[in-house]
Formats: sequence, structure tokens, C-alpha cells
Amino acid sequence: MRSHLLNGLTAEHYRRSVTEGVERVAAKLAATERPFTGVAVDELSPRVDAIDLDRPLGDTAAVLDELEDVYLKDAVYFHHPRYLAHLNCPVVIPAVLGEAVLSAVNSSLDTWDQSAGGTLIERKLIDWTTARIGLGPAADGVFTSGGSQSNLQALLLAREEAKSEDLGKLRIFASEAGHFSVQKSAKLLGLGPDAVVTVPVDRDKRMQTLALARELERCQAEGLVPMAVVATAGTTDFGSIDPLPEIAELCDRHGAWMHVDAAYGCGLLASRKYRHRIDGIERADSVTVDYHKSFFQPVSSSALLVRDAATLRHATYHAEYLNPRRAVRERIPNQVDKSLQTTRRFDALKLWLTLRVMGADGIGELFDEVCDLAVQGWHLLAADPRYDVVVEPSLSTLVFRFIPAAVTDPAEIDRANLHARKALFASGDAVVAGTKVGGRHYLKFTLLNPETTPSDIAAVLDLIAGHAEQYLGESLDRAS
Ligand SMILES: *Cc1c(COP(=O)(O)O)cnc(C)c1O
Repeated sequence: MRSHLLNGLTAEHYRRSVTEGVERVAAKLAATERPFTGVAVDELSPRVDAIDLDRPLGDTAAVLDELEDVYLKDAVYFHHPRYLAHLNCPVVIPAVLGEAVLSAVNSSLDTWDQSAGGTLIERKLIDWTTARIGLGPAADGVFTSGGSQSNLQALLLAREEAKSEDLGKLRIFASEAGHFSVQKSAKLLGLGPDAVVTVPVDRDKRMQTLALARELERCQAEGLVPMAVVATAGTTDFGSIDPLPEIAELCDRHGAWMHVDAAYGCGLLASRKYRHRIDGIERADSVTVDYHKSFFQPVSSSALLVRDAATLRHATYHAEYLNPRRAVRERIPNQVDKSLQTTRRFDALKLWLTLRVMGADGIGELFDEVCDLAVQGWHLLAADPRYDVVVEPSLSTLVFRFIPAAVTDPAEIDRANLHARKALFASGDAVVAGTKVGGRHYLKFTLLNPETTPSDIAAVLDLIAGHAEQYLGESLDRAS
């Protein structure tokens, strides 16, 4: 079994195994004709169930054959131009190379004595990101597992900075289009059930700052503490960007921590064309970025950035076995002092190789392409009488609903849209997402693939209409 342990003696085995795996995936990616096979749970689960984990196959090729059957064959492929559903991106090759390097070397970024140069690479990328945001000379941050964790940590810092004796009095303000990790974080942080105040959005799904001002005033009038405002720079559903400068003003006035959740919109940090859309982000106390959404990085790759490095102390504990207090005096950079995690992947390496190969402009241009594609898609939808489209895109999302001329019952239209999404998924021809707007079921394209073309969008709209019409036809038959 020693032959499976990666070391100097097994370097050749490592090379062969990884190459074999890479060959399979490369062949797969070249051959996938649809983003999904449409496999059903009931069809796939017996294949997984049948495998006896206590009887290993030993041989890499046999295991890869088996993996083909239980995973690769029926996986959902984000690199396919007709995968248009969630905030998943096709990944750039330098980052995939980074993934292979980082897991082979297997550094852990918690302490210097487990990562050395990896620590410095992560720190340099944090500085690069804070400079792009414009957070100023005292800024710092840390890589995290994802936007949810970044938001949790931001709100932990905000809670500690609010210095309130009574957690029940703390309030967080976020728009109704904000991410649900804000609610989850409030719960984890021991805040009361009413801690998150939902602020309405305008027609463009941006937080209404007049409503925010009113809520902040009411909060203070009631003797409560405005702990934080979470502005979303790129809402998950619409890609809408809250008015950051106005929100910054209100945070200043009320002494609230300003957190910008730019999990999605962070791609604009690399864009020369559209960077201005997130102007005001530089006034944040903390920012969430998900490189694994709009920087085309493989999961996971995310960071939390803060204006004032000193606030990260709220996540610091010292342990003799890991990061003793004296290490701080000795100026040993232990990233665990800033993190909620202990053992932590060297995800930063992926972004590092991406920037060294492609440069920031290379990433920004890819993101610009999908933003431009969304505008083209919006024009298609706006001109198509079969569809109602919600807002003009600020990033790369389109939310729309099939509205047949002959049907007036909104509940029947809901069912037709739900059916179309399911039928499309089962066909594997394309994958789209769904959400609710004003209580009604809508469909959603999240465009993150620069290979997707306007004619892909048009074709998928035809497929959706076909499935919805078929459903309505059958439902007419049922009624008669
Ligand atoms: C995706 C997303 C998150 C959560 O990020 P994960 O990486 O999925 O944990 C948070 N906020 C917004 C606005 C998002 O779109």
C-alpha cells in the first residue's frame, strides 16, 4: 500500500495516475454535447449504492472506469455553453493547474511552519485585492471557504465592534434581495430572531436607501443598536448592485459597520470597462469576494477583506500547540490568527497562477463578455412577446417568465414555468435556474460562460417555450 503514498519513491506512480485522470477529464470535456444527461436520482443512486467501499479495486484505471459510471458520465458540466443556471463558472486552466499543485504539496495555510511561501503568496493576493477595492493602507483580510463564511466572519467582527452588552438589541440591515447567509450568520452569532431587518428594493432590485434611512432612524429611536448594513454588490438573483455611496453615508451617520457582499460583483474589480459600477465599495468596513464566481476559479476560492486589520483580532485565539502569543512578537506570520478555520487549503495559489498567466485584465475581459452577453439576452427577451423579463442586467443575470397569450391564470403560468425548468433539466439540453418574484415563479439565466452566444440564449428560450406549451396543451386536455 506504500506505493500509493505520495513521496519521492512514488513520483512516477503519481505522474501516471494524475495524467490518466487528466486524460479522462480532458476527453470528457471535449466530448460533452450537453451540460447534463438528465439522469434521475432513482436511476443513479443504485449504481452508487452497489459499490462496496470495503472492497477496493486497487487499480487506477479500473477505478476511473467506475467513476465514469457513477459520476463523470452524468455530472452537471458548467463549462458547457448551455449551462445557464447558478453562480457557477467554467474555470480557467491556470487555476486548475494551481489546484493540482496545491493538493500535491498540501500546504496548510494556518501557520507559517506549515506553509512558508504559501503564506506570503496569500498575503500578497489579499493586498492586491484590498488595493483594487481601495480599502486604504490599514486593510487586511484572509481567504475563506466561500461567501457564506466570509459574510459570517464580517458580521462577527461587526458584532464585536458594536460593543453591545445586549445581543438582543443588535440589528443588521440587508435588502430583501440579500443572501440568506446573512440570516444564518445572525443565528450563529447568537442575535435575536428579529436581528435582520429586511429593507425593500426598488424596481431595479437595489436597496431603497430612503427605506434604509427610515429603518436606521427607527432602530435608534427604539433604543436598538444598528450593528451593520449589508450592501449587496451583485444580488444572487438579479445581479443588482445596491447604491453603495448612499449606503456608506448612512452607515457613517448611524455608526453602523458597512459590509459589502460582493460575492458575485467582485469580478468588476478586474474589469476596466465596468469597474465604476461598484464605486463606493472603497468605503466599506468589510467586503466579501468569491473568486469562485466571477474570477473563473474552481471551488473553493473566496476572501474576506477589512478596512482595519486590527478588527481581525476578534477572530484571534492563541494555542500553545499552534500559534503561541510569542509568535506575534517574533513577527511570524500565522494566518490562523485571522481565520475562523484552522487547517486551510492554499486556494490562493489558483488565483496567483491565474494572475501570473493571464493578468487581471484577462479575467476582467472574460467577465465583461458575460455582462455584455446578458445585455444582448435582455434585448432578446424584451422583444419576445412570449416572455416577461424583470430587470435590465447590472451584471450577468436574466430573470424572466414564460407568459402565453392564451392563459390568464397566474397559477397556471407558474406551473408551466416550473414544468419547463424541470423538463429542460430532464432533457439535459440546457440547465436554467428558477426563483420567485412578487410571489410568482420565474426562470433565471446566470451567464458566466463567455462561450455562450446570443444564439444559445435564443435556442434555450425556444426550448423553454416548447416545454411550457406542451405542458399547457396537456393541461387543456386534462381539463376537457
Ligand atoms: C453566492 C453568494 C454568497 C455565498 O457564497 P458561497 O461561496 O456560496 O458560500 C453570498 N452572497 C452572495 C450575494 C452570493 O451570490
